[in-house]
Amino acid sequence: MRSDILLLKYGEVVMKGLNRSYFDNLIVRRVKNLLKTVEGEFTLEYAQSTLCILGNEDADMEDAAEKMKRVFGVASVCRAFRCEKSVESIRETVKEHIEELVGDAKTFKCEGKRSDKSFPLSSPALSAEIGGTVLQLMPHLTVDVNRPDVVIKLEVRDKYAAVHGGGEKGAGGMPNGSAGHGMLLLSGGIDSPVAGYLMAKRGLTLDALYFDSPPYTSEAAAEKVQSLAGALAAYCGRIFMHTISLTEIQETLMSACDERLFTILLRRFMMRLAEKQALDVGAAALITGESLGQVASQTLNALSVTNAVPEIPVFRPCIAMDKDEIVQISRKIGTFDISILPYEDCCTVFVPRHPNTRPTMEQILEEEAKLDIEGLVERAFATRRHKKITEG
Ligand code: ATP
Ligand code: MG
Repeated sequence: MRSDILLLKYGEVVMKGLNRSYFDNLIVRRVKNLLKTVEGEFTLEYAQSTLCILGNEDADMEDAAEKMKRVFGVASVCRAFRCEKSVESIRETVKEHIEELVGDAKTFKCEGKRSDKSFPLSSPALSAEIGGTVLQLMPHLTVDVNRPDVVIKLEVRDKYAAVHGGGEKGAGGMPNGSAGHGMLLLSGGIDSPVAGYLMAKRGLTLDALYFDSPPYTSEAAAEKVQSLAGALAAYCGRIFMHTISLTEIQETLMSACDERLFTILLRRFMMRLAEKQALDVGAAALITGESLGQVASQTLNALSVTNAVPEIPVFRPCIAMDKDEIVQISRKIGTFDISILPYEDCCTVFVPRHPNTRPTMEQILEEEAKLDIEGLVERAFATRRHKKITEG
């Protein structure tokens, strides 16, 4: 075993009561799955709301640390040095790694944290003791307890001690799968991958549904959506992606219905199909990237007409976000560069010149009365294909 370790500090799950172990187990399962994609072998030890990851000599701790930052439920990820639980051992570890711990800082403080109360020194006494050692080793440093350039943390835990310079922010949220199962309507745009990420962060397992419209949409457009699903899988594990073709529905709408209501009628078909697909795989909610007022089909009127279709809840986490806020998240999660690739989407194939932004339910039902809705839905549903997307 190597002495450098990773400490994963849990976030919101620590507030859970009796069912706490359910949430903890989901985090551990996700960590184990992600570590399978990292070189080396790893052992996990859990205690006191912290998961300690130990690697063998071949372990790529850098890669492991990066990947652990994508585990939902983890508030921070620290690269630390593990040693025995004695003042001398802590002192030796600080000496050995002093360059890495201090970097080019000019001021520092040591922060002891003794969760094992049988340890002979109190937390302040340990901080003072090791602070003295740091000053001897690095006489150019001065102590600043208020705003130090670097904080050397000395954690005395039940089974071991750990020394580190503080953690990096983890993915936060709730463990993958802890909140149930949702069906993400995933287009090739910027918003829907962000919507999926935000709901996965609150603990939903994701399936993704993509609507194509061959021959109007291309294979390249479908591959782009698969890449987006792959980027999401890096956070939430494997995703089943379903594809349904809307070609017949779109052609029928074009020939039979009022062009101004075309998009909204199409969106109602998307909702019917998405709900059917969700129930088929046991998902209990739909997720879309809609944002209030962003386009004609996302006015309050349009959304309420669309929302009237499904019985299961529709989560729209981007509803209150500005485009630049959505873009910021998409950059952070690595979907932006894929989303801006220029491929057509089924919604952009037949776009009405003057969409109705205030459709009423009467108008919509009048148009839908001209259609064999059940038949169109059945035939579209029969086109579905499935693909398992794994984390890259
Ligand atoms: P995005 O929201 O992904 O950036 P967009 O804003 O262009 O794309 P709209 O046409 O406004 O998307 O559709 C709103 C929502 O409907 C999308 O966020 C997505 O959840 C869903 N949606 C749209 N087109 C598709 C599609 N081809 N396949 C699956 N879902 C879709
Ligand atoms: Mg959008």
